[in-house]
Amino acid sequence: MNEQTAGERAGGYDLVVIGSGPGGYVAAIRAAQLGLKTACVEKRETLGGTCLNIGCIPSKALLQSSELLEEARHGLARHGVRIAGVELDLPGMMAQKDKVVADNTNGVAFLFKKNKIDWIKGQARVAGADRVEVALNGGGTRLLTTRNILIATGSDIMPLPGIAIDEKRVISSTGGLSLSEVPKHLVVIGGGYIGLELGSVWRRLGSEVTVVEFLDRILPGMDGEVSRQMQRLLQKQGISFRLGTKVTAAVASENGVALTLEPDKGGPAEKLAADVVLVSVGRRPFTEGLGLEAAGVALDERGRVKTDSHFATNVPGIYAIGDVIAGPMLAHKAEDEGVAVAEILAGQAGHVNYDAIPGVVYTWPEAASVGKTEEELKAAGIAYKAGRFPFSANGRARAMAMTDGFVKLLADKATDRVLGAHIVGPNAGDLIAEIVLGMEFGAAAEDIARTSHAHPTLNEAIKEAALAVDGRAIHI
Ligand SMILES: Cc1cc2nc3c(=O)[nH]c(=O)nc-3n(C[C@H](O)[C@H](O)[C@H](O)COP(=O)(O)OP(=O)(O)OC[C@H]3O[C@@H](n4cnc5c(N)ncnc54)[C@H](O)[C@@H]3O)c2cc1C
Repeated sequence: MNEQTAGERAGGYDLVVIGSGPGGYVAAIRAAQLGLKTACVEKRETLGGTCLNIGCIPSKALLQSSELLEEARHGLARHGVRIAGVELDLPGMMAQKDKVVADNTNGVAFLFKKNKIDWIKGQARVAGADRVEVALNGGGTRLLTTRNILIATGSDIMPLPGIAIDEKRVISSTGGLSLSEVPKHLVVIGGGYIGLELGSVWRRLGSEVTVVEFLDRILPGMDGEVSRQMQRLLQKQGISFRLGTKVTAAVASENGVALTLEPDKGGPAEKLAADVVLVSVGRRPFTEGLGLEAAGVALDERGRVKTDSHFATNVPGIYAIGDVIAGPMLAHKAEDEGVAVAEILAGQAGHVNYDAIPGVVYTWPEAASVGKTEEELKAAGIAYKAGRFPFSANGRARAMAMTDGFVKLLADKATDRVLGAHIVGPNAGDLIAEIVLGMEFGAAAEDIARTSHAHPTLNEAIKEAALAVDGRAIHI
């Protein structure tokens, strides 16, 4: 056994968090703020989980950098800015991404110190409702005693049966964040947001990109109009789509990967050659090595830790949040749950409003959604009104020369309450926040329509869409 932590010397912890992703580290900070003696066990050498190390942050760093390259090559000339000799420096771009990741993970380490949270480096196992055993990264084990345990172990890459990921020719999203050269032909398996974001990065850096998707649409789960528009815009940028198609084999060799594709509805198989294949067909909850079965913690049919509305598992004193439980696998959902569970443990009334969690695709243009889609409202038989406004009629978007996309606001037909919003366009991920806030306050479309919006801003498109709900948009 190694030296004791301060928490152990003081007679055990109030809370031991397993996993330091956005769920775990935020829960640890909020718990410490509320006076709970808190430790966080993380098996990675750095804090921040999937999101900061191999997810949201490095992917957004590469999206930002590659977007600048794209603008320099193809966007600036229309603004009357000419630059010659624009070149990609891939090692430089990767170094910038690594720096962004390090700044963020070190930032969490600073916050842990500031809040006096014990960071224990090692692999945790639930050894009982009040104890966590840690196989320390540096060797040896440590037994932590605690009043509460929070499982925040996140998720892992979903494999595709029969297709082995070697992170060289056949890569996961993790490999897709650090290729050392630009593949000539990149085939992305899966038309979800991770595949489209990484596909966009490598397309901008020079790859020919083909997205193969099993379903007959990309971005499943988003509003159909958003999916169709995004497909059109990404196609215009040069990405090819093979929808309703499944990959049944991938044979990697020195020179590339030979893929076998089959139509989903049956028909002859065909071959597709790729230099690199990115498998991005989803993520699955990660509970390996946690000892949950022995501890009696129940999982659901999809391997997620089962929790009640207070994030409690079936074993008293053991809680779970984030990607490892039900709900959208998103960093801000995990963070919100982290705050809520810490407040519940401190005797307060923590709560997450799952009806107002935005989802963003950080391609260019971006796509962002909150609340119900038109398809969901139709299926539920809810009568609604839709207001639409295109960015082509927005002054600021014209000045930016970024007029692709639209805002669509969905409001209850009888009460006018906002039920959902869907945006394709410049900075859609930032714009959606206005509607999320409105929904938190129970806003009607009329409230948004009567709110003063600065001119000229992209946000005016939201106001116009709200006006359009009652057929009175001004600028179209
Ligand atoms: C390429 C990519 C891009 C993404 N982009 C976005 C985005 O733009 N926006 C967004 O909202 N979401 C994004 N996500 C999803 C986001 O990363 C996850 O939703 C989020 O990280 C979930 O947080 P979490 O705290 O539940 O778990 P994680 O972030 O997965 O963290 C879990 C941590 O637990 C640790 N752990 C697991 N088991 C143990 C154990 N037994 N002992 C000790 N430690 C353990 C793991 O090492 C890990 O660090 C992206 C994901 C990927 C892969």
